[in-house]
Parts: sequence; C-alpha cells; structure tokens
Amino acid sequence: MAAINAINRLRYILHQLNSGQLPLEDLKRNIEYAALVLETAYMDETRRICDEDDDLAEVTPETVPDEVREWLAATFTRQNVATKREKPKFKSVANAIRTGIFFDKMFRKTQTVLAPIPPEIATLMKNVNSWSFDSFHLNEVSDGHALKYVGFELFNRYGFLERFKIPYQTLENYLLALEVGYSKHNNPYHNTIHAADVTQSSHFMLSQTGLANSLSDLELLAVLFGALIHDYEHTGHTNSFHIQSGSHFALLYNDRSVLENHHVSSCFRILKEDDKNIFERLTREEFRELRNMVIEIVLATDMSTHFVQIKTMKNMLSLPEGIDKNKALCLIVHACDISHPSKPWELHSRWTEGVLEEFFRQGDLEASMGLPYSPLCDRHTVHVAESQIGFIDFIVEPTMVVCGELLNKMVEPLVSLPPTDTLFPPSNGLDRTASSNALSPLPEGRNSSASPSSQIRRLPINYSGKLDIPNPWVRYLQDNKQTWKERAAKEEAERKAQEETENNVDN
Ligand code: AMP
Ligand code: ZN
Repeated sequence: MAAINAINRLRYILHQLNSGQLPLEDLKRNIEYAALVLETAYMDETRRICDEDDDLAEVTPETVPDEVREWLAATFTRQNVATKREKPKFKSVANAIRTGIFFDKMFRKTQTVLAPIPPEIATLMKNVNSWSFDSFHLNEVSDGHALKYVGFELFNRYGFLERFKIPYQTLENYLLALEVGYSKHNNPYHNTIHAADVTQSSHFMLSQTGLANSLSDLELLAVLFGALIHDYEHTGHTNSFHIQSGSHFALLYNDRSVLENHHVSSCFRILKEDDKNIFERLTREEFRELRNMVIEIVLATDMSTHFVQIKTMKNMLSLPEGIDKNKALCLIVHACDISHPSKPWELHSRWTEGVLEEFFRQGDLEASMGLPYSPLCDRHTVHVAESQIGFIDFIVEPTMVVCGELLNKMVEPLVSLPPTDTLFPPSNGLDRTASSNALSPLPEGRNSSASPSSQIRRLPINYSGKLDIPNPWVRYLQDNKQTWKERAAKEEAERKAQEETENNVDN
C-alpha cells in the first residue's frame, strides 16, 4: 500500500516536471533516486513478508510493539532482527527532494578512490562486462593474479572503496591472502581463476541485466564478496569425501556443508588479521547485514542445496508477490558457480578438463585408501561427453532458465514507470544507435557524472526503447551440448570398434 502511495507521489512529481514548474535536472535526478528507493522498499517488504510468513504470522505489527516483536523474532525464529534495515520511507525521499540534498552531488564532492591497475590489465578489463570474459587469459597476463585484479576492477567500478571507505592497500592485502588460500592445494579447478571467473560472472548478472537497480550497495558488495571467497581453501575433494573419510573439516562442521562452512568462516577470520579488515569502516548494522548475506550466499553454493533452491525459486516465481531478494542473490551466485557450460566452448572445455582432473585425483586417493570411487572420479571409466550432457541437461540448463525468469521478474517492474522516452527524451543522452543488447546510457543522474556505483545501475533498454535482458548463456548451452553430443557419438563408436577388435582377438 505504501508503495502504491509512493508511486502516485512519484507520478505527481512527474506531472509537475512536465508542466515545467520545477527545475528539470534536479527533479529528474531525484525521481531516479526515488524510484530506486521505492524498489528497494518494495523488495524489502516482500522479503519481510516471505521471512515472517511461517514464524510470526500471528504477531501482527498492530497488536505487538516493535520491541517485543523483535525479541520474539530474535529468540524464537531464525531471523536476525538486528540486521533488518530501516526501510527508506517515501516521505524522507520527498524531503530530500525539497531540501535539495542530492545523492549524486554528495558523491561527486568526494574524492575518487581507486585501486591501481596496470595498463595491460586495464585493457583486458574493458571486456569485464562480457559473459565471454576470459579469466584464464587475465591470469596469464597478470602473472597469476586474476583474482586480485578482478577484485580491484570490480571494487573500483562499484565505488566500494569510496562507499565503504576501504583503503586500497587493505583491499590488496585481503585479496592477496585470498589468493594464497585458493592456491594452498594446487587444485586444477577450485583455484584463484575459478574464484575470479565466478565473481566476474556474478558482476555480469548484476550489471548487465539491470538487476543492480533493485539492490543496495551493501547487497552488491555481498554478492561480489561472496563470489570472491566462495571456494577459499578448497581442498580439491568433495563434501562427500570429507564426510566419508571423517576429515578434520567434517568433524568441525558436523558433516553439514563442510567445505562451504570452511570457506566462509576462514574468510571472515582473515578480516581479523593485521591490515586486512576491508570492512572496518562499515557500521555495526552494515557489517551484520553483510555478514548474514555473505554466509547465506556461500552456504547456498553447496550443491546439495541445488534442487531445493530451484524448487523454492520456481514456487516464488509462480506467485504474484515479489521474490525473496536474498534467495535470488543466492541463486544468482550458485548459477554463476556452475555457469561454465554456458560460456564459449574454449572456456567451457578448459573448465571441464580442470574439474574432471580434480575428480580423478580424488578417485586416485580413494583407491589408495581402499575406498570405493565416488561418481565421476574413476579416470579409467568415466564417459566424459555423456557426463557433461547430463550436467547440462539436469543441472545447468534448468538453473539458467530459472535465473532468466527470476531476472525478468525482478527487472521488469523497474521499467513499468512511464516509458523511457517520457522520462528521458533522446536529447538527454539516450543512444538510439546502440546494438540491441547494449545497455542504454542512462540520463545524467546515473551516468558518468553520477556516483561510481550508479554507473553499473543501468537498465538493458534496446534501441527501440524496450527492456531487453541479455541471456547469452542460452546459445552457448545449446552449442556446447551439441558439441558434447557429437563427441559422445564418436566415443560410443570408438568403444564399439574396440569391443569388436577385442572379440575378434578372442575368437
Ligand atoms: P563449487 O564446488 O562451489 O565450485 O560448485 C560447483 C560444483 O559443480 C563443482 O564442485 C562440481 O561438483 C560441479 N561441476 C562443475 N563443473 C562440472 C562439470 N563440468 N561436470 C560435472 N560437475 C561439475
Ligand atoms: Zn565454486
């Protein structure tokens, strides 16, 4: 209801804008900001409804004071009330507009703080918005520092150093510590390049689909930080192996999301080391909220939660209400974690080689320990092409389909306000010559002169003014599946020929 009232107020301001009663530029900038606040409030409200449906259905705000409600929630549910944000009220936005306190201007006055990136790496980073970004190449050019530079580049692009007052040296110390941890077990797959790749893919999902428009800076930070750390100190073995072999981590985490618990726990521990606390200047509330989101995101990369996540999201998509934002962010990072089969073949085949080699090394270890081989871990018997077709058909493709639907549901409402042309006529900077998948440069309020983080908050509007959320994964999934099918047929023919030869020799 509050959102509807707010939207009506927004339209009223637009009406005033059209009749020329108020300064044009300031109004437009603030309408942008107000729309952002409204969307955030709407999504937060939806999430609150989802969260509280089960546990606190009886305890309505009208009947119970806030304090008691918070105590009930904190004590008897899994919700962490302390992390709940004060929802922005439209009234305060209107006040901001009236008194001329402008979000963007505030940022422009601050000195730009950037982490330094060498020119040859900066050149590669021009491609960082692409689904086909090559993390392997970046790793070669940067002498093994793909993770550090993807971190630098994205923290720069999102304006996190300014927004969260992170000294670049502290960021560098933290990222280098991450690289050390990711390299601890010399894994062919779960290494720094994989972390860089998942982080860059998550950046694509946030910035190229328009999703970032409905997220706060803290939520953007949670996604990218979560992606950066999500496999830290991976041992190169599966959770199942840890559990079966009764490893240190399995004992420590009671067989529950063993590796994921270690990744997230040890990365928060790094923050306690000297000059590595990149979150030192966050407020207590910001830190609690960030920590909550990051824990949820990393734990959701446990593959054993895959089907539950997909089912939950499909349910949410079928309901008229909005989507639980945290669950959406978890699914996005999970999807990016398994996204390599939806990338160009040169990348996908390289990742597949790496992951299988890691499985095979586990298989070798299992054999040496007298344990049975885990699935896909016996290097002598695995049918590579068939396993990849199964992985795409049953896991990756359905995940990307749900992601596409999720993005549509979250981004579409952001353009349901008056048509772009009404809000931002072409003379204000809309590039009608952009290719259909290119993002429309937003008007001044969100363009180059705006806050750094607002530069990634662009809607994918095509040249004919329509929302056009890119989904490059669709084509690559089909292409890669086709290639694996051809290989499977070849492998099968070779097996048959081999069998025939063996039969002939026996006879
Ligand atoms: P994570 O361990 O967090 O990187 O989660 C991704 C998981 O997806 C991996 O651990 C593998 O179990 C699985 N995976 C990724 N790529 C492949 C692949 N090409 N074939 C089979 N499983 C894969
Ligand atoms: Zn991973």
